[in-house]
Amino acid sequence: MPRQLMSRSVNSRARVIVARLILQASCCALVMGCATTQGAAADPVARAPNAVPIDAPILETLALCPGLTVANAPMADADRRLTEYAAFAALNGVTLLRAPIAAAANPCLSSGFGPRNGRPHRGVDYHAARGAPILAAGAGEVRELTARDDFGLMVLIDHGAGVFTRYAHLDAVADGLAIGQPVDLGQPIGAMGSSGAGVRAVHLHFEVLTGDYETPKRSFGLDAVDIFVLPAPNA
Ligand SMILES: [Zn+2]
Repeated sequence: MPRQLMSRSVNSRARVIVARLILQASCCALVMGCATTQGAAADPVARAPNAVPIDAPILETLALCPGLTVANAPMADADRRLTEYAAFAALNGVTLLRAPIAAAANPCLSSGFGPRNGRPHRGVDYHAARGAPILAAGAGEVRELTARDDFGLMVLIDHGAGVFTRYAHLDAVADGLAIGQPVDLGQPIGAMGSSGAGVRAVHLHFEVLTGDYETPKRSFGLDAVDIFVLPAPNA
């Protein structure tokens, strides 16, 4: 069944868009499940980090957002499409979506990874309409779900093998999403928004992190990785 989003701070028009996109994304997730389980619902292979949902509609191309100067932009062609983009990346044997947003929402890259305005930008930013479904970049387990001043409503997923992903400035999280919950690659986990102090633009701040979580700093003690320099899973 399609997941419904919590309605807080989502206006009625956005809610309609969310419902439509979540429906599409959930269909994708179902297709992915079929592609990886092949009739064996309890098959642990379905949760393997390397299970690439080959039948799933994925974002085939990614472009820099129009009308913006994109900081730390990867190489792009005259139409602003990234020339080295591939939908999936691999880190420590974990397969990740590079742009974990429903393809139907037509996301674009609004900021790359690296120093920006004199400060490190430890992730990449994607823009789409408010309410665009945000997907789990890989299979794993929800490790953090919290609202902070800086990151707004945010989710951290633990993918195992010392690999984590953070999703920040969400408008809402998927109904029932909770710390400790297992998630599949491509599963809708929330909606794009602009939560967080001083955040004006609707965007997803997406981080790929690696290292030891069990330090006093937790996810903030992890090392940030530029997802656009990671190889494809079978490269
Ligand atoms: Zn960012």
